Amino acid sequence: VPKRLKPASTATAICGYCATGCQLKLHLDDDGRAINLSPQAGYPVNLGMACPKGWQALDPLDSPDRATTPLLRNEHGEMMPVGWAEAMDAFVSRFKNLQEKLGRESVAFLSTGQIPFEEMAFLGCLFKFGMGFIHGDANTRQCMATAVTAYKQAFGFDAPPYTYGDLEESDVIVLVGSNLCIAHPILWQRVMRNKRSPRIIVIDPRATETAQAATQHVRLKPKGDLALLYSLAHCIVRDGRTDAAWVERTEGFDEFAAFLHDYAPERVAEKTGLSVEEIESLARTVSEPGKRVSWWWTMGVNQSYEGVRAAQAMINLALITGNIGKPGTGANSITGQCNAMGSRLFSNTTSMVGGHDFSDAAHREKVAAGLGIPVENIPSDYSLAYDQILAAAEEGKIKGLWIVATNPFHSWIDSGRLAELREKLDFIVVQDMYHTTESARVADLVLPSAGWGEKDGCLINSERRIGTVKKVREAPGIALSDFRIFRLIAHAWGCGDLFARWTDPEAAFHFLRDLTKDRPCDITGVEGYEMIDRLGGIQWPYPATNPPSGNERRLFEDGKFFTSSGRAKLLFSPPAELPEAPDSAYPFTLLTGRGTSSQWHTQTRTGKSDILRKLYPQEAYVEIHPADAARLGLREHEMVTICSRRGEMRASIYIAPTVQPGQLFLPMHYPEVNRLTHPSYDPHSRQPNYKACAVAISKT
Ligand code: SF4
Repeated sequence: VPKRLKPASTATAICGYCATGCQLKLHLDDDGRAINLSPQAGYPVNLGMACPKGWQALDPLDSPDRATTPLLRNEHGEMMPVGWAEAMDAFVSRFKNLQEKLGRESVAFLSTGQIPFEEMAFLGCLFKFGMGFIHGDANTRQCMATAVTAYKQAFGFDAPPYTYGDLEESDVIVLVGSNLCIAHPILWQRVMRNKRSPRIIVIDPRATETAQAATQHVRLKPKGDLALLYSLAHCIVRDGRTDAAWVERTEGFDEFAAFLHDYAPERVAEKTGLSVEEIESLARTVSEPGKRVSWWWTMGVNQSYEGVRAAQAMINLALITGNIGKPGTGANSITGQCNAMGSRLFSNTTSMVGGHDFSDAAHREKVAAGLGIPVENIPSDYSLAYDQILAAAEEGKIKGLWIVATNPFHSWIDSGRLAELREKLDFIVVQDMYHTTESARVADLVLPSAGWGEKDGCLINSERRIGTVKKVREAPGIALSDFRIFRLIAHAWGCGDLFARWTDPEAAFHFLRDLTKDRPCDITGVEGYEMIDRLGGIQWPYPATNPPSGNERRLFEDGKFFTSSGRAKLLFSPPAELPEAPDSAYPFTLLTGRGTSSQWHTQTRTGKSDILRKLYPQEAYVEIHPADAARLGLREHEMVTICSRRGEMRASIYIAPTVQPGQLFLPMHYPEVNRLTHPSYDPHSRQPNYKACAVAISKT
């Protein structure tokens, strides 16, 4: 029997792609090396299912372009292999030199939501408390910053209230800007398991796979969502369909009701593209007495110039109709990356660790005591956000960048600006599994890192469930886990003593866990990795005093929130105009998003799998409405050039009524797409607005 059919033993690990957090069963040979995998049948998240990315999760580890040794750019501009000692010398001397000349703000890191939170926390603590810099952010800014801000402001803490079981217990499931079928396919399968014959409503300008499979597609104009959500609240308040007990648990209801006067359906028809009847009917559906209504959103909301207010508009609707804290309800943000939630709460990618905020002196004291760090080493200033870091680099204030497990030269909005930025930076370090990403190719130093499957640690999924990943392969060459690289750097920088306790990921887990005591994300009752595996993952909170029973838990069942008053805040402001509306020169609105369940983000890993590549066109394509294609004389598969005020790209034509006339859709997985996108940001969360900008299209 071939080894792949009869493994010597098995191990488990949470999938390292999306935030669904499926558990995979890894089949090991006699040497403990993973040779195959299958989805874990008994895990409460995926129930034996996996999407194509999960099934092929081992493929990227075998890619020939793995970074196997550090690479250092020489005086001729060539990348040359060097040992770790020489790499550390270069890292320390170049960054210390910048620090001495330009101070604590001269170097920043850009990291990820895709490594275990023990590693994320190590990076942030090392960089700020050990190396003495201030600014660092993660690609979670591109993914979840909006949801984080919306929850923090409304609930008093970044606390998604739901459990995945709510998808199976809702009567009305409203998906806003979420293409669940392909972005979170296993969660769509959870919807399909719902036995209550739910009404599935998709609010999206595009007829996505999910919209086509839904009961109802509310096909509004791009970024008409905020006006629509306010109009729904207007109808509900006007018709007395609020839940009085839950309104009592909010702050600001009278002001909100007054604000809603301006959002009668007839007044938002132009902005939303919807009829009065459609809006009135939808308002009745989402406030039906006795029905369980759940609101779910992803990047269509988060990646917007007014995403925080749109997310809060859904939170407001859930609150005033009493659809929170009960089975099948909630205002529920579905996270993007496998450990975005870990990054939000338990790491230090911006300015918090273990649920503590560095702007609070008492929190700084607690972090210092918990980690054995002098309190004066903990900066009270907030880090700059991602876009502000890049702006500071453009202004010459930041001269060094340390990029960890992310690929901003593909993924960041208006990426042409980054190409220019390269010339302004003195030293770029990229720490990654591959030396071929768009970012690694422009680096001065590449540090080779182990990937998923080659190291241990914890990830936290969208429903707040902590799960473990395991080392079931050796990293190639002399590549090291990010955790070990941080240890090397701490030693080389001369601050190793501060991090002597960070011996391995599970040791770090223990003191990071203890740091959460008495915070809303308290997990002091979690003994360690073995307990997490034994219980099928553990949702936070899980305090040592009075640990909760059950492993499918939602928040706010007692109607108490984390604000000082214990009541949730109703937050709102008038919708803004599109930052870049179409005009005569650029007459189309460009929508971007995920194109398939078989690719992931910048294809850094999924692009390495022969099977996943076969499931998705490798050449960029653009969706255009049949009427526009006919008007412009464009034929299927013809090459076109799409340009915005910032750049241009080529793509082949795909004619489909999935987009509306006047709109184009480009999948985000192709590197050229972000040459076009418009650099505008949500003012509260600083999350980039990837979802709507003005472009023109012409035959190539
Ligand atoms: Fe599950 Fe997401 Fe991994 Fe697919 S990519 S197997 S949905 S965790």
